[in-house]
Amino acid sequence: MIPIMRHPLDDGLGSRLSARTTALKANAHSPEAARRAWKSASAERQGLRERLNRMAAGIMRCMYCGDNLGTDIDHFEPISRAPLRTFEWPNHLLACSFCNSNQKRDTYPCDPQGTPLLIDPSTEDPNEHLRLALATGEYRHLTAKGEVTIQVFGLNRADLVRGRAGAFHTRRAVLCHARSLLYGDRKDEADRCLRALAEEPHASVLHAMLRSVDLPGAVVVLGADVVAALRDPKILDLLSLT
Ligand SMILES: [Zn+2]
Repeated sequence: MIPIMRHPLDDGLGSRLSARTTALKANAHSPEAARRAWKSASAERQGLRERLNRMAAGIMRCMYCGDNLGTDIDHFEPISRAPLRTFEWPNHLLACSFCNSNQKRDTYPCDPQGTPLLIDPSTEDPNEHLRLALATGEYRHLTAKGEVTIQVFGLNRADLVRGRAGAFHTRRAVLCHARSLLYGDRKDEADRCLRALAEEPHASVLHAMLRSVDLPGAVVVLGADVVAALRDPKILDLLSLT
């Protein structure tokens, strides 16, 4: 899970969503009514999908697992709990059907004070709650919110752990290869390699590598050649990270 920068809505879609919320408040407050209104709002849902697709990492990846294609608009606070938030833009995230329908569903755990215990990657930095162990591909929790988020989304399920561990190895290899291309006067090839890398699933792996590059022991975990690549402004520029 990586931070997601939420884009502002243009006036047209924002106004239509506000009108939908106003109608819900005026006519019905029930989750069932909200779900019917949501299903009937195909133009608004299409507009939201387009904006969420542009915000998502890689090629429209799920904002929770980072692996699968984001197929669903998830209501972060579920309609069953907050029907009047059905059309609120800050309540919409892009999720794969597995995270949305199999894992999260209508789950919205809170602590005894009522504070949500799921990470919203569009309003807070997941790194404050989770740490990715690059060598194993497993997430470790730093907070109660991190622990519950791992449980609810199944972030340490076997396929995700294996995918992240594999992604770590391929990213290391591609970074070193791209750097050798770059300094072998083959900048265009390096550019294509790094752009492809930036679009791969499991964006959290590259984010974790970048965060760990200045930590003690980075050379042991990443390798000296990978550390050199991740400190190279030309590489970061091609990754569009500068
Ligand atoms: Zn997912």
